[in-house]
Amino acid sequence: MSETLACLVIDDPLLRPSYGNLNYKKLLQEMKEHNFFTEIAFIPWNYKRSNPGTVKIIAENPEYYSICVHGCDHLGYEFGGSDSEKLDLLALRAMWRMDQHRHLTGLPYDPVMVFPYGRFSSLAAKALKNAGFLAAFNSHIQAVDCEEVEESEYRRPYTEIYHGFPIFLRRYPKDKLKFADDIKNGRPIILVGHPGAFRRGYDGITNVIDWVNRQGAIKWRSLSYIAEYYGCKKSTPKGMHRNSSDIPRYIEACIRRFLCEIRDTYIDRSDLLANIYRRYFSPG
Ligand SMILES: [Zn+2]
Repeated sequence: MSETLACLVIDDPLLRPSYGNLNYKKLLQEMKEHNFFTEIAFIPWNYKRSNPGTVKIIAENPEYYSICVHGCDHLGYEFGGSDSEKLDLLALRAMWRMDQHRHLTGLPYDPVMVFPYGRFSSLAAKALKNAGFLAAFNSHIQAVDCEEVEESEYRRPYTEIYHGFPIFLRRYPKDKLKFADDIKNGRPIILVGHPGAFRRGYDGITNVIDWVNRQGAIKWRSLSYIAEYYGCKKSTPKGMHRNSSDIPRYIEACIRRFLCEIRDTYIDRSDLLANIYRRYFSPG
């Protein structure tokens, strides 16, 4: 393989002109200048909250922006459970909300999952496969209910050890030296970011991206493109899409989302507050 596919994934932001330290227009300029692509890992719970102007920026720039699915309610380790019926419902509900978002805004989405806090069980992989997801991208490939993963799985572009569902590995900018291994082994380069990563501007990320772009023939693409490039195919969804949300869970989701947004919007803008938050309050 002479070319390497790459993507920057930013977790959590709402589709609003600015979210915390992230500004969609500014990021678009940076992508044009430094040549990269950003996938927004969008929380399905927020499906009624997108700003039309921000949706327009994303819709008009499909060569730079795409959105994918980040959890469902983004409630703790929601995809780390062992109740397969609950996981099936969660996967279907996530997809249903993304479909609603597409109907409301006209914006398509990539049917790939980024797990909140990186936690998933092998049954979650099965639930996603049954719900018609194409693949998942995660900062590790070990399910919470499984033994250690064999080293050889880390050398493949993705693992399929959990019910045949493809899971790709993504990495934080601090692990940039491992990107050289990715290129050598024919794996894509998947870079993780959070809105807080832009607290001191965009240089921290764009310096890493410039470094990646100097390593060879790098093509920046969406996560769906990357999964399909490696031959991943969606299964036919099993079961009906359902939207059953119980009230206590809904209230908990509201409170958690509110706290996360306070973190991203106010706390992450200050080094001191961000350090205090991460030390004493961060859920992961
Ligand atoms: Zn998240």
